[in-house]
Amino acid sequence: MSESCLFCRIIAGDVPGDMLHQDEVCVVLRDINPQAPSHVLVVPREHMESLNEASHRDEALLGHLLRVGARIANDEGYAEDGYRTIINTGAGAGQSVFHLHLHVLGGRPMSWPPG
Ligand code: 5GP
Ligand code: ZN
Repeated sequence: MSESCLFCRIIAGDVPGDMLHQDEVCVVLRDINPQAPSHVLVVPREHMESLNEASHRDEALLGHLLRVGARIANDEGYAEDGYRTIINTGAGAGQSVFHLHLHVLGGRPMSWPPG
């Protein structure tokens, strides 16, 4: 837990968050500024600044985030039409909250390459 980290504070319940799912490893909340009809964030409970900090010990955690993201996309009804999972790593890639998280977006056509 980092007192200065927004996602740690949401996980601790100090800041409100629209939670869809919680388990012992991660929480899933709706993005406050959605970029698609469904835009959720899969956030590990453990504070880790970005994917750059992940080690081999975190491989199960990273797999869990992806599997939870797929399940949420399924629950939201986007498994068939498609959805996008994104991890922005570093400010240059658009990361603005420095607590690792997976974006899951669905409900509209997605272009490639992303901006
Ligand atoms: P990043 O830019 O780091 O990849 O993603 C951070 C995401 O967190 C952004 O999509 C942003 O809209 C979202 N966000 C920022 N502040 C809050 C907040 O207070 N609550 C929620 N639910 N999402 C937030
Ligand atoms: Zn944090």
